[in-house]
Order: sequence, then C-alpha cells, then structure tokens
Amino acid sequence: MPDATPADPVANLARIRARLNAAAEEAGRKPEDITVIAVSKNHGAEAILPLLEAGHRVFGENRVQEAMGKWPALKERYPDIELHLIGPLQTNKAKEAVAFFDVIETVDRPKLARILSEEMARQGKTLRLLVQVNTGEEEQKAGAAPQEADAFIAQCRDEYGLAIDGLMCIPPAEEAPAPHFALLAKIAARNGLKTLSMGMSGDYEIAATLGATHVRVGTEIFGARAY
Ligand SMILES: *Cc1c(COP(=O)(O)O)cnc(C)c1O
Repeated sequence: MPDATPADPVANLARIRARLNAAAEEAGRKPEDITVIAVSKNHGAEAILPLLEAGHRVFGENRVQEAMGKWPALKERYPDIELHLIGPLQTNKAKEAVAFFDVIETVDRPKLARILSEEMARQGKTLRLLVQVNTGEEEQKAGAAPQEADAFIAQCRDEYGLAIDGLMCIPPAEEAPAPHFALLAKIAARNGLKTLSMGMSGDYEIAATLGATHVRVGTEIFGARAY
C-alpha cells in the first residue's frame, strides 16, 4: 500500500473510496452501503477544510474537548457535518458529547448508557448509538466483553430505552483483524443490528468484505499524526 500523502487528503480519500468500492463489489455488497468516517483527531481545520470543500461530511474525533475546540466554526460553514465520537466517553463529558456529536460509537457500560439516555431526554436530542465491543478482550481497551455484549445490548434497549444502531470494534493491533470483524458481524446479526463500524487505515478493505457499514480512516487520509 503506498503511503498516504499528507498534503492531499482529498486525493487520499478518493483512492480509499475506489479501493472500498472494489472490495464491496468483490464481496457482493453495494459500495454506497459503506461510509468513510474521516478521523481528524490531532489535525486542524486547515487539513479538514479541503475535504469539506470536496463534499465530504462524515468525520470522527476521539476526544470531546478537542472536537469542541475545532468543529464549531466548521459546523457554522457546513451545517450538515456528521460527527462521530469514536473515543472512550467519561460520564462527566456525556452532556457535552450529546450536545455536540451526532453519533456516539463507544457506548460500553450500563452507567454510560443510563446517563446518555437521561441526557438525550433532557436535551430533546436523539443520537445514533453504537456499542463498542472489546473483541480482543484486551484489559487496557474499552468496550463490552464479547460474551457480555448480548446482555448489554438488551439492557440498553429494555432498561434505558436506547435504540442501539450497531456495533464498533478496534481489534488488537498485533492480531489479524478478520476474525475480530467476523465476530463483531456475528454479534450484530444475532441482535438484529445493521451498523458495523470496523476497519481503519490498515484494514478497511478487509472490513468492507466482512460487512463494515462504516470504516474509520485517519492516517491514510491525513497522514501521520503529530502528537
Ligand atoms: C485514531 C482512530 C482511528 C483511525 O486510525 P488510523 O489508523 O489512523 O486510520 C480509528 N478508530 C479509532 C477508534 C481511532 O481512535
């Protein structure tokens, strides 16, 4: 895979789109059923603007605070932006996250589900919510354990009245991603969930063949992140 060219996120996105379309076709899926979430964490407005100008609208951020710093001005110019929170959410940031994001992909524990439910009611706002599943059962990683996912999804629905849209996972960095994507798709299918957020810069094509409806791509679009 050629390196992403940091200077040209629009060309990079076009290349990713073409690869996704080919992967989708190979798997007998419709290309339009796969959305690219451009992960703009650690990148500023100057990197994001060319994508907005080119018509891209779906972006991902992993920190509430960082997103609230750079997105308000961009949202003013492009009101139809769709922002996904893809990083862990602390309950003390739930209020801001509900106010600011359109999709939260990291619902992973009962307390957070309850507070999101209360906040959405308070703000009169319905976000799309995904349950993050820790498919690799990694101790340091957020997400519901695979064997607890069914019960947690049911609890979100029955106890907190949340319409869960789908599932999200981040496979262990050192493992082949395909079994993790397949596991996520299986959990989604048996719970009647349609949205699957899986696949990043290194594995979005594999994710597309295994049913991803959303791939979250940062480095391949924007280049390496400076921390
Ligand atoms: C940063 C991040 C991505 C994007 O990763 P790249 O390898 O840069 O494409 C995707 N998902 C999550 C949850 C992230 O934090």
